[in-house]
Amino acid sequence: PTFDAMKLKPDLLKGIYAYGFEKPSAIQQRAIRPIVRGRDVIAQSQSGTGKTAVFSISALQLLNETSRDCQVIVLSPTRELAEQTQRVVQALGDFMNVKCHAAIGGKSLGNDIKQLEQGSVQIVSGTPGRVFDLIRRSALTTANLKTFILDEADEILSRGFKDQIYDIYRFLPPSVQIVIISATLPASVLEMTTKFMTDPVKILV
Ligand code: AMP
Repeated sequence: PTFDAMKLKPDLLKGIYAYGFEKPSAIQQRAIRPIVRGRDVIAQSQSGTGKTAVFSISALQLLNETSRDCQVIVLSPTRELAEQTQRVVQALGDFMNVKCHAAIGGKSLGNDIKQLEQGSVQIVSGTPGRVFDLIRRSALTTANLKTFILDEADEILSRGFKDQIYDIYRFLPPSVQIVIISATLPASVLEMTTKFMTDPVKILV
């Protein structure tokens, strides 16, 4: 199994190799394809397995680079993780026309609004509270969102963000694709799969 065989955009493939990856990890081999095909996917996967690249590569492959709409939101449980994801997306997309913005609590709300108003942020990587705030203020437009990704969903829920996740979900277009990554699958995570997802592909690594 190789990244070459995944039929990715040439500029994305270039970014993956430039980043230093040589071949896909187990989770990448199994999860990227169904996400790129547009399926809802729940993957049980821990840190260290290459999960960040699963949704980063998938999001970049799905991205319409010629549109400047926000097309993908990734939610993480912590500010650090949201910033790290933003860096990974931007680095893997180094040869693409992509802008990913980190929207996190503790950083200037005014700057987030400015970045989003300039209308060029295609991927938002954020924490639930800040992202909901931006949606509520109509600074972040979800009308053309294609993919909604929850990273470390179990952690997001155990940190008390359940209400924010459900609040955000109400603003998403009905056709949105949902991807959930979680190290464990407690009832609260499985509840989201039944409430948010359509015929999800389940991947256990
Ligand atoms: P994660 O599970 O996303 O926290 O990733 C764990 C580590 O594995 C990170 O340092 C990644 O850069 C690295 N990694 C992810 N995918 C690959 C790959 N296909 N080849 C080599 N390293 C990888």
